[in-house]
Amino acid sequence: MFSRVLVANRGEIAVRVIRALHELGVEAVAVYSTADRDALHVALADQAVCIGPPAAAESYLRIPNVVAAAGTTGCEAVHPGYGFLAENAEFVRACEANELAFIGPPAAVVEQMGDKVRAKEAMRTAGIPLVPGSHGASGLADARKAAVEAGFPVLLKASAGGGGKGMRLVPSVDEFEAAYAAASTEADAAFGNGSVYVEKALSPARHVEIQVLCDGAGNVLTLGERECSIQRRHQKLIEESPSTALDAETREAMESAVERACVAIGYENAGTFEFLVGPDGRFYFIEVNCRLQVEHPVTELVTGIDIVREQVSIASGEALQLTGRAPRRGHAIEIRINAEDPIRGFLPAPGIVSAFVPPLGAGVRVDTAVREGSEIPPYYDSMIAKVIVWDETRPLAIARATRALTELEIEGIPTTRNVALDVLGSPEFATGSYSTSTLDELVGRMPSLALQ
Ligand code: ADP
Repeated sequence: MFSRVLVANRGEIAVRVIRALHELGVEAVAVYSTADRDALHVALADQAVCIGPPAAAESYLRIPNVVAAAGTTGCEAVHPGYGFLAENAEFVRACEANELAFIGPPAAVVEQMGDKVRAKEAMRTAGIPLVPGSHGASGLADARKAAVEAGFPVLLKASAGGGGKGMRLVPSVDEFEAAYAAASTEADAAFGNGSVYVEKALSPARHVEIQVLCDGAGNVLTLGERECSIQRRHQKLIEESPSTALDAETREAMESAVERACVAIGYENAGTFEFLVGPDGRFYFIEVNCRLQVEHPVTELVTGIDIVREQVSIASGEALQLTGRAPRRGHAIEIRINAEDPIRGFLPAPGIVSAFVPPLGAGVRVDTAVREGSEIPPYYDSMIAKVIVWDETRPLAIARATRALTELEIEGIPTTRNVALDVLGSPEFATGSYSTSTLDELVGRMPSLALQ
């Protein structure tokens, strides 16, 4: 096991990782921008290094600064959290070149999965079902042909895309040429790579993903699924496990497909394979996230496995204790609390949190870096807290999530709390028959928005 690890992130995920390190008896070194001087992750770490001014491009995203912080403090490994440098192959290489263990997959895997076209190619080779489409970056004529074959509407996606960016819905063939040109220009501007590919737009679709842990010896543990269809602008708001969209047979088919894919691509450490489940009940691969995900606690609560602790153990060379399928029990739901103003189109709303009372009681976990008086800076992600609950059954978990959110008090900034309460109270959520478009449909008739 390592004796000291650098945590190359901020906010709730830096706090989450520092806690796991301390439980393993490992020292944690934090990095921070000048905007985060008083942040909780800095206070909890054993040491902290300032790596630059507030703008992420000049601090948390600056590879030489992060690597130097690890070197000067004598760290043996780096945990990247999610976002920032977590899926940056250049960063993984920089760690390796400086004899720092990267707590994640090898650079070659991060690079291959970061290129969505290459990732899909690898999945096709491994026999994983893909969303119908072009299965590769293609010129206008080939892309149009693939779109016609798949059937409209289609999505144009950037090969180098991510975070919901670089996606464009094309309703019919008449709009294809203009959309293709615009998508390619946009992708070039956003990612420095203009290549795009075509996917059939599945509707209604459900986003269901499989969590895995793989060790260096090629052993694979699948930890079941997370249902992440409650989304706004392709950003998840509520996640749960198990998913009401899967029967036992489909779940096992997905987990064994993922196990096969992990072996085929030489996956290592924690990862998530994202799928869409179509109206036909079949599953289709969309992408791999080579990192810890925001919603990982949902899986931790149903499996009892601490994913971050496992990540650190795997990176230090230990073998998985358990392989195959992780046993699960009960039902878990996560609600993301964003510093956003729902009545102003979910605009990010940074500011000072004047009061903060997290919910307590049985079966409730809160992951956050917020304290009373915390400042939510305008420079970073608006997701500021996660309320995660566990209970024996789905109805009990919904009741517990509702109770917990009702107890949660955040003053000084607007949040998405009441929107989440409305979702939890909706008939769609109660029955479990919802899709990636349900939240947008609900927003039009939400009590919390109508009262304003
Ligand atoms: P990103 O990496 O940018 O987050 P993803 O490929 O993971 O993009 O897709 C994000 C979300 O977009 C999905 O959860 C789903 O809601 C929607 N989506 C992506 N591909 C499709 C598709 N082919 N059909 C319908 N919805 C899709």
